[in-house]
Amino acid sequence: MRIPAELWRAWLHNEDVVARFEAKRYVRSADRCWPWTGAVSSTGHGSFRAASLPGPSRRGTVPAHLFAYQLANGVIDRTGWTGAEDPVVCHTCDFHGCTNPAHLRLGTAAENRVEWSMRRGNPHGPLADTRGAAGRTRAIAEAIRAGLRAGESADEIEHRIQAAEEAGLPLTLW
Ligand SMILES: [Zn+2]
Repeated sequence: MRIPAELWRAWLHNEDVVARFEAKRYVRSADRCWPWTGAVSSTGHGSFRAASLPGPSRRGTVPAHLFAYQLANGVIDRTGWTGAEDPVVCHTCDFHGCTNPAHLRLGTAAENRVEWSMRRGNPHGPLADTRGAAGRTRAIAEAIRAGLRAGESADEIEHRIQAAEEAGLPLTLW
């Protein structure tokens, strides 16, 4: 997926596109994850349909965390491209569905792999989720949508998020 910088810039400066993006991320306090509540990719990242473009069907659909990072920090050339030298946006919180720019940083694919292998052994971390990354993102997104549909308070929705997170803990903890 090669989105040229000019196209990112056009989307990030388009109020309607940004409003559609914001409607799908659940913003919490600055230190917490901001889960994506829209579509989820097989890797557990949020999928945001920035535009309908001619050509291959998903061309205008971008990873939500790439959109979030660039919305906060400006356009990074070649973000989301797949060459060895291209920058990747890494999650410092390990939750792929997170769109909090404070939990995202720019790195290389090699760094990202090293960090992943260091942290995946943590039985309390998101990477240990028995549902896999996509299952975790979907479960948390569904918990938030259910709370919003029911008109619940932020505190009630926090309980739903916590329950959705705990449901993926490995049973070996017991
Ligand atoms: Zn996060």
